[in-house]
Order: sequence, then structure tokens, then C-alpha cells
Amino acid sequence: MQSKAQNGSKFIFVTGGVMSGLGKGVTTSSTAKLLQLAGYRVSCVKIDPYVNYDAGTMNPVAHGEVFVTDDGGECDMDIGNYERFIDTAMTKDHNITTGRVYNNVILAEREGKYLGQCVQIIPHVTDEIKNALRNIANEEKLDIMVVECGGTVGDIESLPFLEAFRQMELELGQSNTLFIHVTLAPVLDVVGEQKTKPTQHSVQELRRIGIQPDILAVRCKMQLSDDARRKISLFASVEEKCVISCHDAPSIYKVPEVLESQGMLKAISERMVLRRSTPHWGNWRTVTESFTKYGGSVRIAVVGKYVTLPDSYVSVYHALSHAGASIGKKIEVQWIDSERFENGGLSSLSMLKDCDGVLAPGGFGRRGSEGIMAAANFARTKNIPYLGICFGFQLAIVAFARHVCKLHDANSTELDPNTKNPVVDFMPEQRNVHDMGGTMRLGSHDIAIAPKTVAARVYGLTEVKRRHRHRYEFNQKYLDIVNENGLVLSAHSDSGRRMEILEMPNHRFYFAVQYHAEFNSRPGKPEQAFDAFVKAAAKS
Ligand code: GLN
Repeated sequence: MQSKAQNGSKFIFVTGGVMSGLGKGVTTSSTAKLLQLAGYRVSCVKIDPYVNYDAGTMNPVAHGEVFVTDDGGECDMDIGNYERFIDTAMTKDHNITTGRVYNNVILAEREGKYLGQCVQIIPHVTDEIKNALRNIANEEKLDIMVVECGGTVGDIESLPFLEAFRQMELELGQSNTLFIHVTLAPVLDVVGEQKTKPTQHSVQELRRIGIQPDILAVRCKMQLSDDARRKISLFASVEEKCVISCHDAPSIYKVPEVLESQGMLKAISERMVLRRSTPHWGNWRTVTESFTKYGGSVRIAVVGKYVTLPDSYVSVYHALSHAGASIGKKIEVQWIDSERFENGGLSSLSMLKDCDGVLAPGGFGRRGSEGIMAAANFARTKNIPYLGICFGFQLAIVAFARHVCKLHDANSTELDPNTKNPVVDFMPEQRNVHDMGGTMRLGSHDIAIAPKTVAARVYGLTEVKRRHRHRYEFNQKYLDIVNENGLVLSAHSDSGRRMEILEMPNHRFYFAVQYHAEFNSRPGKPEQAFDAFVKAAAKS
């Protein structure tokens, strides 16, 4: 085996061409998965060239879900894909943004680290990027790190990152770096032929900045034709066997098999001088098969605030699909804007009767909150399985306090700061926090589950760790009154200071969690609350 890079790790860089939304994240995850199945220690990094420090302050409807890591990082949703594919927990360091890079450079400049120098994009910013990548690879003792660069080649914002990749190839040598470029071969209906020009142009753009791709992953609806492959190979100067067709697959989890059927690992191994180039599929294939053959379906209504972009609940969707696949059921999600049930829209609630279960996901702020409470109350009174997540936990409590405990003016102080009955209230440590970035209760916390409860049955454990992202919590001054009325708070964290799970023992399944159960779900290993919810819904 050829000598490795000085830190022992090799780097694969994934760039995007033509346009966004081609599934670069899935290509990155699938490449990492194949390498993992071949026995390598791998992980992924997502680079987001925007200037925000992290994804936490961005609108989920514009940018998709904020994925939370164990260490409390508020990350791009691609980190969630990586975790689901390679079943490896990421840290916040695995999501690098322009904001973070510049913040570090400026802090170092103020500390006098560059004393006497003019601080520039090359080398100071590019050095910061390279160091960030190398540090993770070193700390995690990775054999191979797959680095995905967000955006499309040609964007001004991504230039310093691509320049850093180019320098790494120069420094580490060709056997320690590899470039995968993801492009598109569209078909224009009238001609029916796969067009290669967008790929040609995007490779030209990449070469202009000094990067020659080694592998092209070409997105297309149907398998890439031999003609198109030959043409792309010739114009892009990429060997034909390294032009990989990424045609539509029945499930994203099938993509590693699509890539491997065309010799992806062999192509990578030859170029990077790797010894092992055969994936050992283990039970991965059995798991992926479960996402392609279904015996019936389960209809789940997701009642939330950000339904116009289903990506804003992408981990919730995947967690549902993991649970569905494990019992052979396809999940059909009906995305319902909770505002529909407001301002005289209560009669629309009857549409929930056509669903097998109701899920209320996370959310922030007043708009649409009354609609979520109405849905939570409807599911309770009609005995429809209900799963509440974070906001969906808090609003189920408010609805219960109002309708069952007869505290008609109950509310969360997030929605009505002057409510007389703040059944959900600001966490004390949040009172003096004014900054909005990274200031919530974030990341993984231990949760103690009370024995002989639904929660204990669901988890089969007395303690679990789950991830959080919230500022408000159940106000335990109301514990006695909700208990007396039949609501059980069956798990707590921080030595009993905060409640984490609610349940109604006499209901078919009425369960809500303060944490984000969706982030811990994996294909073949659905998160337990989702699993129990989907099983209950499937019995409808
Ligand atoms: N807005 C609520 C809070 O801050 C819920 C947050 C969420 O659903 N992630 O506590």
C-alpha cells in the first residue's frame, strides 16, 4: 500500500454542478457507506458556504430542518443523512460554514496569531479550512473522510473551500485525495436523449479553478446510456468506468448498491491505492430491501407549522419510514398546515379521522400553535394514536390543561407571556439569554424513565439519551393537577428538574416527548417512540 497522508487519513471531496437539489448528500453518504462496508473507518463533513455561523438561526421552510448533534450542534440537514447511512454520531465540527471559518480567523487575528501579516483568503482562510478538516480526521483516526461542499461550482461563496481542496491534493498527493463531482443529465421530452452539455460545462468550471474530477456521479431518471457515458468521458476527461450513473432508485438507501453495481469502490480503490475494495453487505441489503417491498400502508397526518417544505421535517419523515419499513408498511404522510384548524377551521379536524395516526412535530412561535393544540385534543378525544415532539409535547400539555383540567386560559409563555396558567414556561436558565444563536437547551441529555409506564414498555430501558432543542418546558407546578386528571409524566432529566415524556395510559397511544426522538432513528433500527407509534397506528 502506498504511503498515507502525513496524518494517516485520506480525503474524498464531493462537489456539485449544474444545479442544487441533485442529491449530493445522498451520493456523499452512499460513498461513505460503501467504504465503511469495505472495512474502513469513515466519516463525513458538510461544508456550507453561507455566512451564518451555523444553521440554527435559519428558517426551516427556506433551508430545511436544523439537525441537532449529540454535542448540541445546530447543523445542516445533510448531517442527518450521514448519521442515518453510516450509523455514526457526528459532532458540530462536522458542519463547517464560512461564518465559522471567518470567526476563527478573525479571533486568531485579534489574539495576535498573525502578528505583522496581512490576513488573506489564501493562505489564512484556506489554512483554517484545511486545519478544520485535518483535525477531525486526526481526532477520529479516520481512514477516509468524505467532505461534501454545499452549493454549486461557480458560486462565489464556495471558492475558498474549493481552493483549500485543491491545495490538499497538492500537499497530500493524488493517492490521498479524490474528487467526485455530482452533475445532471437531463432528458428533454421531445428528443428523449440524455443531455451531456450541462455536465461538460460544469466540469469545465471546476477545471477552471484547478480541480479535475476523478469520478462523475451523474444524476438521471433512467440509467445513463452508453452514448452519454462515452461523450461525458471524452469531454470531461474522466475514464468511462469512472462516469457513474446515479439513476432514480426505489429508496435512497439503495443508492450504495446502485453505485457499487457500476464498480464505484473499485474506481475509488484504484485511484486511492486502497487494499480493500469489496463491500461486506452484512444485513444492509436486508434493511434496504425492506424499503422497497411493502404489504400495505399507514397514513400519518403530520400537523405542523412548516409543512410547505417537507424538508423542514426530514428526520421526522425518515424516522416514520424506518418504523414503517420494519413492519413492512409504507408510510403515507399527509402534511397538514396547522393553521387550517384555526379561525373557524375546527370542522376540518374530521379529516384526521381518515389517518391512522397524528404526529405534531417541533416548532416555534404563536402562528399555527392553536391548530396544533386542536389536533392534539382531537387525537386524544377520538382515541387516534398521537406522537408529539418538542412543540408537539408542549402543546399537548396546554390542550390537556385547557380541555381536561379546565384551566381554560392555560398556555405556554412562548405564545402568551402573560397567561394566568403557564403550564409550559421558560426554562429558568433561559431567562437572561438574549442572543438567538446556539442558546437553547441543546444536544444529548440523559433521560430517566419511570418503571411500569408506557414509556418503560416503549424503550425497554430505564435510561436513554436523546437530543434536545428548546427554550420552554413543562411547568411542574401543574404536575399534581394533570396527574389527577389522567396525564402521566413518565420520564425526567436533570435530576427531575424537567419532564421529558407524557403519556395517557387509557388511550390507544398518546405519547409525547420533549426531546427530538427523530434524530436517533436509523434504517433497520427505528427510534422506539416512532416504532411504537407506527405500530399503534398500523392497528387502526
Ligand atoms: N418552541 C419550543 C421551545 O422553544 C419548542 C421547540 C421545538 O419544537 N424544537 O421550547
